[in-house]
Amino acid sequence: MIRCDYHIHTQLSGCANNDLSIEKIIQIQQQNDMKVIGITDHDYSYQSKVEKIQAAQQTLKEVDPSIEVHFGVESQMLEYQVTSISIRLASYFDYVLMAPNHYHLRGVAQPRSFRDPRRVALHEIYMFEAAIACPITDAVVHPFLLSPDVFQFSPEELAAFGQEMMHNIEQKRLIYQLDLASQRGIGIEISPKMVRYNQRHLVAFYQLCLERDVKLLIGSDAHNLKQLDEISLLIPILEELGVVDGQLWHPKDRML
Ligand SMILES: [Zn+2]
Ligand SMILES: [Zn+2]
Repeated sequence: MIRCDYHIHTQLSGCANNDLSIEKIIQIQQQNDMKVIGITDHDYSYQSKVEKIQAAQQTLKEVDPSIEVHFGVESQMLEYQVTSISIRLASYFDYVLMAPNHYHLRGVAQPRSFRDPRRVALHEIYMFEAAIACPITDAVVHPFLLSPDVFQFSPEELAAFGQEMMHNIEQKRLIYQLDLASQRGIGIEISPKMVRYNQRHLVAFYQLCLERDVKLLIGSDAHNLKQLDEISLLIPILEELGVVDGQLWHPKDRML
């Protein structure tokens, strides 16, 4: 049974469903026996305006949930040391999820080729390093997870390409970054998208995270109501990895 979900979008995110209000999410998650959740819209949803952030925080207060609800944000690395959100704006949120591979968004550095697994591997590790080095990152969301929308492969092709890419990631370089993440209390997201997109190459990566004492953040990245329930797809994976409660990331683990 999964009791937390720290990556949920509301209707404030243009890419999410219109019926996804804060009130509805909380109502459903209460029924689902969730203990603690996090609302995390894309940073561009707020158009860099403090008033918009405060209005969302006010809505949360008014709902007065019976479960623990955190107010985070999803940002992305554009390139090394360049983030989509400013440090000042980030300070209004409980935590910052940093996406290293939002290639569909403008301004995000892209691999030289989306068809060469070696090139994609080099770029993914570069962006991962950038996310870990960033002072406002509390957790890195969906690293090394390849989106079918970006890669335009069939599910089988994408699965094979993912394996090939992961083989091209230099282990020492990856371990060095995971040790930094562990020291700084940075979580790594494990998302049901890996099941939906058939990305088995991530199992070995999560295993390595656990070996290096990096905590895993459970996040559905739900953009509609149905995807809120997809969190249960992670149950067999968490069992396979042998994850225990103490290995899960929570907002209290962030370093201030
Ligand atoms: Zn989105
Ligand atoms: Zn998201």
